Amino acid sequence: MLKDIWNKLMTRSNQATIKALQLEVSSLCQLSCIYCPRTVAGDSWPNRILDWNIYETRIAPHFNLFETVFLQGWGEPLTNPRFWDMAELAKTRGRKVGFTTNGILLDAEAAERACRLGIDVITFTFAGATPETHQYYRAGADYTELKDTIRLLAETKNRLEVAKPGIGITYTMMRNNMHELPEAVRVAAALGVNQMTCGHLDCIPEKSLEAQVTFLFPSRGDKECLIDAAVEARSSDITFDAEPPFMSGEILVCEPHPMRVTLFIRADGTVVPCHAMALPPEAVKNLYFKGKPQKYEPFILGKLTEQEIPEILRSTACRNLQQVFGARADLNLSVGDKIPGAPAFCARCYKLYGV
Ligand code: SF4
Repeated sequence: MLKDIWNKLMTRSNQATIKALQLEVSSLCQLSCIYCPRTVAGDSWPNRILDWNIYETRIAPHFNLFETVFLQGWGEPLTNPRFWDMAELAKTRGRKVGFTTNGILLDAEAAERACRLGIDVITFTFAGATPETHQYYRAGADYTELKDTIRLLAETKNRLEVAKPGIGITYTMMRNNMHELPEAVRVAAALGVNQMTCGHLDCIPEKSLEAQVTFLFPSRGDKECLIDAAVEARSSDITFDAEPPFMSGEILVCEPHPMRVTLFIRADGTVVPCHAMALPPEAVKNLYFKGKPQKYEPFILGKLTEQEIPEILRSTACRNLQQVFGARADLNLSVGDKIPGAPAFCARCYKLYGV
């Protein structure tokens, strides 16, 4: 009976059941950010472009299952030559569409296309509020050009008199850029940015990078930096969202909440629960967790080359994972109730500890 209801839910049209489909349209990137698993993996990293045919025939027919299509994974989305066709198709099917970019390929023509398509949000990644800091972390980037690109997008919106795309900044908080966070908000305000999201490094492919993880080695000033940044954001009318500057105990449900909030499709068509399981295992052998290397074994839900999305969502693997997180998210739990254990691969993920 329950199975029937679930199957109907998953095949029903016009009813989004998962908040966001995160689509890795490319795993290529022009930069070599020192903290990125892609950089650490070096030549063993597989550079892949999501095939248009898979997108059009295996993914787009099931857009109705998702509220938002977010075109981004472990690479720079605009390096996919069919990127704008992909964005347009998702918009045509009535989905909200967003992506995160390093800005390098977002020229005047692309900015205008984004505005005319009504892309809902474009976010730009920052790792500092000065050229020295940003370019140290994001090797190959040009901080001044990045700011020019954001300015260009804001000016294009004004010229075309459109409210979209919302412009966002994602700021990767690390040991040597925390102090620049309030300045980053001032820069964002001057550029016409609407929202700022501050997150931590949570997939750590190399031991030396742990020193950059603020929640593992908190400093007294971190909280003040966050508060100052939040105050700046409020006075500039920028939406501000930041992960806490510390790690908590185990939480019941991680932010990506698989199959409720997120489903992730990698550039090779592999379907996984979240970004943390979306790294290519042929290139990433271990991730570091609390000082120790942990064998990286992604939890694969299915492959689009072999199955359709609804079939994958009906699979035992998907249903079990959903059941575990569903039970943990149950608001009717009382003191003393037994809480189902998190899947083994989640127990070694910082997202399950509130960061
Ligand atoms: S806890 Fe981590 S690995 Fe598990 S679903 Fe959440 S983000 Fe993915």
